Amino acid sequence: MPECIIVKSTTSEVNREKMPLSDRNTTLSQLKEILEKFRDEREWKQFHTPKNLAEAISIEAGELLENFLWKKDPEIENSFKDPTFREKIKHELADILCFCINLANVTGIDIASAVIDKIEHNRKKYPVEKAKGSAKKYTAL
Ligand SMILES: [Mg+2]
Repeated sequence: MPECIIVKSTTSEVNREKMPLSDRNTTLSQLKEILEKFRDEREWKQFHTPKNLAEAISIEAGELLENFLWKKDPEIENSFKDPTFREKIKHELADILCFCINLANVTGIDIASAVIDKIEHNRKKYPVEKAKGSAKKYTAL
C-alpha cells in the first residue's frame, strides 16, 4: 500500500518555502493538486480505481482503529499526551484523508460541496430540537 507523502506542488512551491502548509493556509483544491502530482509522477493512476481507493480508505481506517484497540476512553485521552502516539494518529488520519482526496480526484467529486450537502442533509435528519445531547440514530429520535 503506497504511503501518502506530500510533495512540493508547482503552484504552491514558492509559498511553502516561506510558510509551511497548514489548515489555515491550504485549500482542498491545493491538496487535490498535490496528490494528483504525487500520483502521476509515480504512474499510479492505473491503480486508483474507485474500488481500490474505497478499499484503501477502509484499510487505513482499520489502521487508525488499531491504535485504540482494547483501550478505554481515559487511556486514549492520556495517550494523546505522548508525541509518538499523536504522530501515529496523525499519519493514519493523513492516510485516510489522502485516499479520500484521491477518490474525489478520480471520480470528479467536489469535496467541499459534498460535505456542505451532507451537513444540510444531516440538519434535516437531526433537527436540533430532537437531537441535542442525544446519540440516538435519527430513526429513534
Ligand atoms: Mg496507514
